[in-house]
Amino acid sequence: MSPDAALRYRRWIDTGRNGCMDWAARYLDVRDNPQLLLEGARSVIMVAMNYYPAQFQSPDVPQFAYYAYGRDYHEVMRDRLHQLSAYIKEIAGDGVATRCCVDTAPLRERYWAVQAGIGFVGRNNTLIIPGKGSYFFLGGIVTTLELHPDDPCQLTCGDCKACEKACPGGALAGGLPVDASRCLSCLTIEYRGEELPQWAREAMGNRIYGCDECQRVCPHNRGAQPTAVPELQPSEAFLALTAQDIAAMDQPAFSRCFSHSAVKRTKLTGLKRNLNTNNEK
Ligand code: SF4
Ligand code: SF4
Repeated sequence: MSPDAALRYRRWIDTGRNGCMDWAARYLDVRDNPQLLLEGARSVIMVAMNYYPAQFQSPDVPQFAYYAYGRDYHEVMRDRLHQLSAYIKEIAGDGVATRCCVDTAPLRERYWAVQAGIGFVGRNNTLIIPGKGSYFFLGGIVTTLELHPDDPCQLTCGDCKACEKACPGGALAGGLPVDASRCLSCLTIEYRGEELPQWAREAMGNRIYGCDECQRVCPHNRGAQPTAVPELQPSEAFLALTAQDIAAMDQPAFSRCFSHSAVKRTKLTGLKRNLNTNNEK
């Protein structure tokens, strides 16, 4: 990793802009150096998987971020990375070691995706793939295989500030890296307090899990195409969920609905807290 990128990340942590994402401040040495994830690592292979939905929730029901519509991306991406990893070993030999990473290991996925030429990091902090947009999961394989590097993507947002203006929490103000303490996605998913801050209650509208606003307004997402990955399609049961259903949900019902969904991260108590916020509005 370049010293500049490592320094920018540390500055983000040192200024407290990681908010309630305490995990982001851990394993800084590993984040700087993937060779600490896998001894003898020589290359990082990055992949992106489209999750833009083909079907959407009704706007009247509590809104989940698109990435949480289908099966948990950790499971979906991990399965595919393991298949790719097996293929790499098949063609390169068993002596090659690999480590698959999907958001659970301290790998700087967006940085490596830029280095791999997949896209650039927008002002909204997502990886933007030219011509395709940002509704993509990233996965990485750290490997001992020595590969010829791709050219990094050199594009930028230019003069656009659409996401900064649209952000309901002001988390992108001043063109600085995201202030997670002002980000509704972070607060509705990662925050463990019993109540959300009052300003967030007012800003979140009928969102219940995550926020897509800074991606929704991004011009690069105008031509977003629905994902063809079957596991990422929303179920009929998910699309039919109402505020009343969630208010009445007990733990077994939550597990039935979300045990293979990214939504399990917020737990039933978090989901109800977020819903209560909306009900009280
Ligand atoms: S996810 Fe929502 S709150 Fe967070 S930076 Fe984007 S627009 Fe702002
Ligand atoms: S909305 Fe504009 S500034 Fe924000 S990420 Fe997209 S292109 Fe960049």
